[in-house]
Formats: sequence, C-alpha cells, structure tokens
Amino acid sequence: MPFQFFGTSGAIPSPARDNTALAFYSPDEIVLADCSGSPYQKILKAGLDPMRVSSLIVTHRHVDHLYGLPSLAHNMGLAGRRATLHVFALRETMPFLRGFMDLFPLEEKMPYRIALVEIPPKEGHLVLEARGFRVLSTPVKHGAPNIGLRVEFDAPSERGAVVYSCDTSPCPSLIALARGADILIHEATFFHGDAARASSDGHTTGYQAGEVAAQAGVKRLILCHFAASLHDRVDELQREARQTFAGPVEIPEEFREYRVARS
Ligand SMILES: [Zn+2]
Ligand SMILES: [Zn+2]
Repeated sequence: MPFQFFGTSGAIPSPARDNTALAFYSPDEIVLADCSGSPYQKILKAGLDPMRVSSLIVTHRHVDHLYGLPSLAHNMGLAGRRATLHVFALRETMPFLRGFMDLFPLEEKMPYRIALVEIPPKEGHLVLEARGFRVLSTPVKHGAPNIGLRVEFDAPSERGAVVYSCDTSPCPSLIALARGADILIHEATFFHGDAARASSDGHTTGYQAGEVAAQAGVKRLILCHFAASLHDRVDELQREARQTFAGPVEIPEEFREYRVARS
C-alpha cells in the first residue's frame, strides 16, 4: 500500500513544508491521516481521486492536524460526493470536529453524510479494515490526547506495516505499536539539545526518534513534523537519528510516493 506525505512540518509551515498529514491508499480507497492546508487540492496534487477518500483519521485536537476539515467537507460536497465520509477520532477530539462543522453549517446543504466514529483510547485498537489493509491505533504521549497509527497491508503485490507516531514524546505504547514494522514514520520536532523542551511539549528529538526505531526493531525510519526553524537543517536531525539507529533514516519529500519493499 503506497503512501504520500501531504505535509512534513510542525505547527508552523514554511514555503517548503506544510503541516504534517499523510495519505495511505489502495486501488480501491484512500485513508487520510490528519487534515491540514487545502486537503482537496493536496489529494489532486498527489494524483489521487478525492472521491476515493473513504476515511479521515484525525489524530488529535491541535490546530495543525485538523483545520482542513471544513474545506475538505465543503469541496467534496460541491464536487458532488454521495458516499458517506467516515471521520475517526478520540472522544476528546470530537467537540472540535463538531464545532468546525456547526460553525459553517455544512452538513445541511451537503449531498453526503459525514459519520463521526469514536476511537477508544486502547492499545492496538482496530480502527478500520478494508480490502487489502487495516489500520490500528494506540494512545501516545502528547499535550492533548493523541494516537499513533499502524497501517498493515496484505495485498498480492505488497505486504507490510507502516507506523506513524504522530506528535509524541518517546513512549512504550508507540514502541509496541511499531514492533517489527517495515517503516516507522516518527516525528522529530527538535534537536537533541532541546530535549527538555521536546519533553515538556510532548515531542521527540532526532536522536530519540532513532532510539525508538532501534527499540521497536523497524527496518526503516522516516522523520517528520520538523519545527519551522529547522527546515534548513533537517540533515542535522537525520545525523542525530543515525547515531542511535543503524538502519536507513530518511527525510521525506512531500507528494513523493513511498512503498515498503515488495514481498
Ligand atoms: Zn503537530
Ligand atoms: Zn500536537
């Protein structure tokens, strides 16, 4: 199952990097993880069909992870969507999603329904299962209740697991979720010199992201959610992670298609 980054930045974007969000997709459907910028345009830019988006998982209530929702909902309605859009989130995140929808009264005029589905704060919870893949979630350690995601795919052409940490300090639940994954996408918001700030803000340093990857025994590490002040210095974050993780460490490109190795 291929995936693309729709953004790779922390809360403040730069000309080169927008807020972190991802799209995972099979030939049948697209699952979005978080919703920033102009999501509809990003789906098109990725070469995907917005009508094939079946689900959106909003990891937590921080603005940079969900503010694109009214725009996505509005655009899909205007474009004639009929199929229900499933939006998954923790209970604590729901009032923010409902608030956005009520603010614009989008649902009254839309030709389709948005179904909000609550994710329990449980380790290894099965969020959704579709043809060829499934998505699991686990609570992580951040300033707001948040989840990491594990996407497992089992298709004739490709099988494997990709784990996305979302915003978090290094935590055992995420290490358990990432155990043996082909790819770990882990946030690396700060340099290790700012480890105290990373910890108090519920974030991870490049050095720590490498430690998590090593502890989880993943094959490959991709860093993301970079603080805007580090966008010109991401190679230094990569070097930090290489001190603690012996496997490949990558800095992602937005709108490049990534895949796990074929089986
Ligand atoms: Zn964030
Ligand atoms: Zn956050």
